[in-house]
Amino acid sequence: MQLVHNRRELIAGIGALVGVLALNALVAHHQAGRLREDSSRVAHTHEVLAALEHVVSSLTTAETNYRGYVITADSAYLDRYHKAWDAHIASIEQVERLTTDNPKQQAALPEIKSVAAARHEQMERGITLRDTQSFEVVRDFVGTNQGVETSGRLQSLVGQMQARERELLSVRARENRSAYRSLVLSNLAAALLALVGVAAFLWLLNRYLRAISRATALIHEQRQLLEAMLISIGDGVIATDAAGHVVLLNAVAQQLTGWKQPDAIGRPLSEVFQIVNEETRRPVENPALRALREGRILGLANHTVLISRDGSEWPIDDSAAPIRDAQGRMNGAILVFREIRERKRQQAELQRHVNALNEADRRKDEFLATLAHELRNPLSPLSNALQIWPLVENDRHEMEQLRQMMERQVQQMTRLIDDLLDVSRITRGKIELRTQSVDVNTLISGAIEAVQPFVTACGHQLTVTLADAPAIVEGDVARLIQVFGNILHNAAKYSGPKGRIGIAVRRVDEEVVVTIEDNGPGIPPHMLRQIFEMFQQVDQTLERSHGGLGIGLTLVKRLTELHRGRVEAFSDGPGQGSRFVVTLPLSHASSEAGLSGGTSQHDGSLPRLRILVVDDVEASARTLMMMLRSIGQEVAAVHDGSSAVDYVLHNSPEVVFLDIAMPGMSGYDVARAIRQHPGLADVFLVALTGYGQEDDRRKAIEAGFNHHLTKPTSIEALEQILSTRPEPTRHEAPQVT
Ligand code: ADP
Repeated sequence: MQLVHNRRELIAGIGALVGVLALNALVAHHQAGRLREDSSRVAHTHEVLAALEHVVSSLTTAETNYRGYVITADSAYLDRYHKAWDAHIASIEQVERLTTDNPKQQAALPEIKSVAAARHEQMERGITLRDTQSFEVVRDFVGTNQGVETSGRLQSLVGQMQARERELLSVRARENRSAYRSLVLSNLAAALLALVGVAAFLWLLNRYLRAISRATALIHEQRQLLEAMLISIGDGVIATDAAGHVVLLNAVAQQLTGWKQPDAIGRPLSEVFQIVNEETRRPVENPALRALREGRILGLANHTVLISRDGSEWPIDDSAAPIRDAQGRMNGAILVFREIRERKRQQAELQRHVNALNEADRRKDEFLATLAHELRNPLSPLSNALQIWPLVENDRHEMEQLRQMMERQVQQMTRLIDDLLDVSRITRGKIELRTQSVDVNTLISGAIEAVQPFVTACGHQLTVTLADAPAIVEGDVARLIQVFGNILHNAAKYSGPKGRIGIAVRRVDEEVVVTIEDNGPGIPPHMLRQIFEMFQQVDQTLERSHGGLGIGLTLVKRLTELHRGRVEAFSDGPGQGSRFVVTLPLSHASSEAGLSGGTSQHDGSLPRLRILVVDDVEASARTLMMMLRSIGQEVAAVHDGSSAVDYVLHNSPEVVFLDIAMPGMSGYDVARAIRQHPGLADVFLVALTGYGQEDDRRKAIEAGFNHHLTKPTSIEALEQILSTRPEPTRHEAPQVT
C-alpha cells in the first residue's frame, strides 16, 4: 500500500517537474521571440541609416562627376555622373520602401524627392550648357550657387531623416537590451525552478526507492517463510503460472511425481502431474487447470491415481485453487495433493472388520435360533416324561426306561450349557488352566471312558493305538479330556450307525500327535477350517439331524491353543470320512505321571464319611443322597438353612453338600454360620449351584466353602471331591434323619 502511495507521489512529482520545465520553455521561447523581433527592428533601422547614407554619398558622387564633366567635358565623367544619379534615385526609393512603417519618415520623402528633382534639373542644364555653349557660360551658370544651395537643402533634409532614424535606433537598442535582460532573468528563474523541481523529484525518488527496498526485503522474508512452509509441509504442492506451466514443486511433490524441480519448471502441468481414474484408467481432468479456467477452488474426484515419471502409481486426494494478483487478475494456480495409500488401506481394513462384524452378527442370530432349538429338544421329552410319570409309577420297567431317557436328556442339556459357559469364559480370557504333567495315553483313556456309553449305543467299532512310551505333556487334565472327548463324541455322532472310529497316539520328535478318524460323512474342503469357528456347522439348516450348537470344535481349538498346541481337520470329501489331528508339545519332564485325580485311582479307596446334604428341592436332595450312598457313604439330608446349621451343630458331619439358592437362609449364610464355630473348622463344605461362573466360585470360597460343584453332578465328580478332603481330626456320630 505504502509502495503504491509512494509511486503515485513520484508520478505526480515527475508531472509537476515536466510542467515547470514546459512553462519555462514557453516563457523562454516567448522572450527569445521578442528579442529576435527587437534585434530585427534594430537591424532594420541600421538598414535605413545605410540607405540614407547612400542617398548622400551617391549625390556627392553624382555632383563630383558632374563638375568633372563641366570642367573637362570628358564623357567618362558623364557616364559616372549618370550612374551615380541613378544610384541616388534608387537609394531614395529604397529609403521609401524601408520606411513604409514609419509615417514620419514617409512624410519627409516627397520634399526630398522634389529637391532631388530640382538638383537633377540644375545639373542636366549645366551639362546641356557645356555641350552647347562655351565653357564660360557654364561657369557662370555654376557660379550662381543655385546648385550648392539645392544640394545643401537636400543633404539637410536627408540629415534630418538620419537624425530621426538614429533616435529610433537608440530607442530600439534600449528596448532590445531590456528584452535581453528579461530573457536572461526569466531563464535564471526557470533554471532555479527546475533545480527545485529536480531536487523535489530526487527526494521523492529516494523515498520511492527506499520503499521499494523495504518491500523487496519483506517479499524476500515472506518468500523464505513460504519456502520453509512448502518444504516442511507433508503434502505435495505444485504452483503454475497463468498458462498452466509449472513454476514450483515442493519436495513431497517431487517425490510423488518423480520430477526434479529444475526439470519440471516451465513444463505444462499435465505433463508433470499425470492422473487417471483408478478403475477406468482414463485420464482425469487436472483440477489446477480447471481452477485456472473457472477461477474457483476445486476438489478432486475420488479414486484418482497419480502416475509418476518412473511409472509408479499413487492413489491421491487433492484440491486446487486459483492465484490472483492485487487487482484480482488470474496469476496462476496452486495444486495441493497427498498420497492416501495408507488411508485407503485403513478404510479397506475397516471395511473388512465391518464385514466380519456383520458376519459375526449374522452367525449370532443363527446361533440364537439354533440354541432355542437345541434347548427345546431335550425339554420336550422331559416334559412328556413328567406328564406320563403318574401313569407308569407302578411299572418298574417303564419307570426305568423313563429314568434313563430323562438322564440322557439332562446330560445333553448339561453338556450344551457347559460348552456355552466354557466358550464364554475362553472368549473373555477367563479360563484358568490347572496344569500338571500328564500322560496323553491316560488322557485318551479318560476321554474314551466319557464317551464310551454313547459310542456303544451307536454300535461303533472303536480301535485305539496308544503310544509305546508315556507321552507326557503339561496340561489341564479335565480340559484335555474335554478336547479329545469332543472330537470323539463328534466322530460317534456324525458317523452313521456301526461306524469305525480309530484313535492313535504317536510321539513325533518333540510333539505328541493324536489322530482321531472316522468313516463318516466327511467334511467338504471349504469347511475344513471354518468348522473350528464359533457356530459354524456344515449343515446350517434348522432341520439338522445331529443337533448341536457349532461350538464344540471352537472349544477344542481354543483349549488346544491354550496348551500351545494345534488342531487340524482333514477329509477326502463327502462320504470319505474325517480325520482330526491334535498336536501338543511334549513336556521335558520325563515323569510318568498318570491321570492324577482321575476316577479309577480312588475306586474303593474312599473312607466312609458322615455326609449331610442340604437342598430345598427334595428330589435333588434325594438323588444326591442316592449317588453318595452308591459309593458307600453315610448320608443325611435337610431342606432349609437353619435346620442345616442346627444339624451340623448337633451332629458334626464330616462333609456338607450345601445348595446355595434356598429361601430364607442361603447356602452362603449357612456356611458363614458354620464357620463361626471354631469347633467346626474341620467340616468339609461343598457348594452345590446351578451357576458355574468364576465369580460364583470366588463367592463360595469367600463364604467359607472348601469346594464348589456345579449341578448336576456325577458320581465321578463326587468321588474326586471327597478324595481331596483332608484327614479329619475329630469324629462324632451324626444322627441321620
Ligand atoms: P456341533 O457338533 O455342535 O455342530 P462342532 O463345533 O463340534 O459343533 O462341529 C462343527 C461342525 O463340524 C459340525 O456341525 C459338523 O458339521 C462338522 N463335524 C465335526 N466333526 C465331524 C465329523 N467327525 N464328521 C463330519 N462332520 C463333522
